[in-house]
Amino acid sequence: MTYDRHTLERMRQRLLERRYVVVRSTIGNQREIAELKGQQRTAEMEEDAQTSSAEFVLTRLSENQRREVGQIDAAVARIDAGTYGECIDCGETIPIERLEAVPYALRDSECTRRREAMAEPGREYPTL
Ligand SMILES: [Zn+2]
Repeated sequence: MTYDRHTLERMRQRLLERRYVVVRSTIGNQREIAELKGQQRTAEMEEDAQTSSAEFVLTRLSENQRREVGQIDAAVARIDAGTYGECIDCGETIPIERLEAVPYALRDSECTRRREAMAEPGREYPTL
């Protein structure tokens, strides 16, 4: 255990709020794009109006947004597993200041820096 239950629940709330904002902003963008296209009501849009499952929304997220939602979900799973706030490289507790800034951080600043230094230029940074 890294942090007390109260802190973990607070971080869980922050993660879920962040997830909500990412997903909502995507739905908002879809509407704006539809409006810019001249408000044509296509069969696809009819379908949009009727289907609002989380899974369906996920298919509409951009690569970056999908990645962020994936990181958020992984962090929530780590809260449930009792490993949230533990650096996955060295096992040290990630400082709360860092988690406040990046609630789904997997590593402390030191290990993140080391990893970034090791990463080959141009290669995609592994997400999880
Ligand atoms: Zn570390």
